[in-house]
Amino acid sequence: MIIKLQKNLGAPGRGILLQRLARLLPGWRPRRVPSGQILKIEFPAGADTVALIENLPGVTGVLLSNSELCPLATSGRKKIFSAPLNFGRGPVFAAGPCAVEDEGSYLASAAALKAAGAHALRAALFKPRSSPYAFQGIGWAGLKIIARAKKITGLPLVTETTDPRQVNRLSSVCDVLQIGARNMRNYELLKEAGSSGRAVLLKRAMHATLREWLLSAEYLLKYGAKNLILCERGDSAFSTTSPGLDFKMMREAKKVTGLPVLVDPSHAAKNRKIAVKLALRALRSGADGLLIEASVTPYTAKVDGRQTITAEAFGDLAAKY
Ligand code: PEP
Ligand code: MN
Repeated sequence: MIIKLQKNLGAPGRGILLQRLARLLPGWRPRRVPSGQILKIEFPAGADTVALIENLPGVTGVLLSNSELCPLATSGRKKIFSAPLNFGRGPVFAAGPCAVEDEGSYLASAAALKAAGAHALRAALFKPRSSPYAFQGIGWAGLKIIARAKKITGLPLVTETTDPRQVNRLSSVCDVLQIGARNMRNYELLKEAGSSGRAVLLKRAMHATLREWLLSAEYLLKYGAKNLILCERGDSAFSTTSPGLDFKMMREAKKVTGLPVLVDPSHAAKNRKIAVKLALRALRSGADGLLIEASVTPYTAKVDGRQTITAEAFGDLAAKY
């Protein structure tokens, strides 16, 4: 922890500050009175204590490292996700339509994508849409459809949850709970998903910093998530010109957390041709796999059809790996 001190804090002020710090950090003793504008303390302090330190007279700010702030998410443990996704054999492809729309098209897509090399199925029932008039997903009516797809293909299901009240029921069928970009900061949802016992896929919110992403991962781990996968999806919500995928941050997230990081090229691309290009760039840039929109009916999809690639295009992509 680095404590930034007021510029003209004199010796008496510094002495008082050290006394107050010692009271807040039982067991810590200052070696000497700091002369500069920075006081470095290597001593664990909880978030509540940090808030009190920030508020002490003579203090202008407190800086914490990622590992002080997110001890679980930065432990760097290299976890092999043997179940439900296996990252030990090369890139993992989770593919499927943006949302489940009807039984016939979903089961046909599931079978075709499995044959084309998918390792998991996108299986969204609830869609967080920017417009309240847009298709919101088929909801619980789709649970038996995705359960059937899982039974037929043997593939694990990656399903977005948008509300803590969905988590329990979704967990009875789904293998990975997806936290979408808009919900990365939905802390009650993170708590519920973390304690569900299911693996969680956490997307980076649009424009979120690495630290904000890590803090959301920390919520999931603190509340019990054992298997966690991160996913970079880019910064743009509406732009059709800038995908905003941040491969540098993706690599940094991999390094700091030791967790697998997927890339979603679809929502960044907003166009199926660009989605394929971004997918290849992501894999070349070190992504551990893809969460990609693909189906047998992209041209008639109610949602995100323009960016959904065909099962054949997905097969060509997967065949390269
Ligand atoms: C999705 O993957 O279906 C989705 C809604 O993406 P995002 O949360 O990244 O917008
Ligand atoms: Mn979509």
